[in-house]
Amino acid sequence: MTKSNKENKRQGLTVLTPKEQFHFDCHQGLNCFTRCCCNITIFLTPYDIIRMKSALKITSEDFLASHTDIVIGDTGLPVAVLRMRDDDNKSCPFVTPEGCKIYQDRPWACRIYPLKPESTEITEKSGKEYYSVMDVPFCLGLAEDRAMTVEKWKVEQGIPLYLEMENPFKNITMNKSLRNNKIINKKIQEMYYMACYDLDRFRRFVFESKFLETFEVDAETVEKMRHDDVELYKFAMTWLEYGLLGQHVLKVKPDVMEAKKQELKNK
Ligand code: SF4
Ligand code: SF4
Repeated sequence: MTKSNKENKRQGLTVLTPKEQFHFDCHQGLNCFTRCCCNITIFLTPYDIIRMKSALKITSEDFLASHTDIVIGDTGLPVAVLRMRDDDNKSCPFVTPEGCKIYQDRPWACRIYPLKPESTEITEKSGKEYYSVMDVPFCLGLAEDRAMTVEKWKVEQGIPLYLEMENPFKNITMNKSLRNNKIINKKIQEMYYMACYDLDRFRRFVFESKFLETFEVDAETVEKMRHDDVELYKFAMTWLEYGLLGQHVLKVKPDVMEAKKQELKNK
């Protein structure tokens, strides 16, 4: 066992702060190359799907149908999981002998490896970030000599943008009211699925229904949402905050509100 290998054995048990170092290097010359892209469960975030469907130049509907399975999480809400190929290795649909064919747009989970964010009540209260190095016995990259800080690794892998994009989604999924009340209503599950994962359908919902006649949305946001998936995604999260969490982040137009009041009066 080399010195770095010994260190990495210890890494599996060590919790690191952003400024601490770990050993890792992944390259084509290693015998394990692409082995980690098989038989794994990769949960996809909304931003992962935006990037992956854009890389593949397909719609969200096609991406979801061809490349994902949906599981129902503890909160009762659907979660998208990358569907592995139905081959002996259960390999990722994007892996090739040369590596990941969507490398620039690979999901968050593939970027952060071999690190794992450690989140416990204690770490959350401290407000600090902690990571551990995953202990994957076949991963020879963990025995390489290249050392770098957690912070540097995150920047190299483009993690800060992914974290920024995950925030509006996290605000919803981590909301206490959802944790305490499991959603079982099929319509709500469907609404959530569309807003989080099926953005092209959400776009049609906004522009081809009475949505914009009902809610006050500024003209600049409306224009951006026509073509910009990230803007649309941010708005979709606002809509979920309003519809799912009951937060007053969207305003119904006064005439619509008045008509609704009259309708209720006449009942
Ligand atoms: S070094 Fe680790 S991450 Fe890189 S290909 Fe091998 S198993 Fe995968
Ligand atoms: S998306 Fe790319 S990096 Fe991630 S498992 Fe698939 S091939 Fe590997």
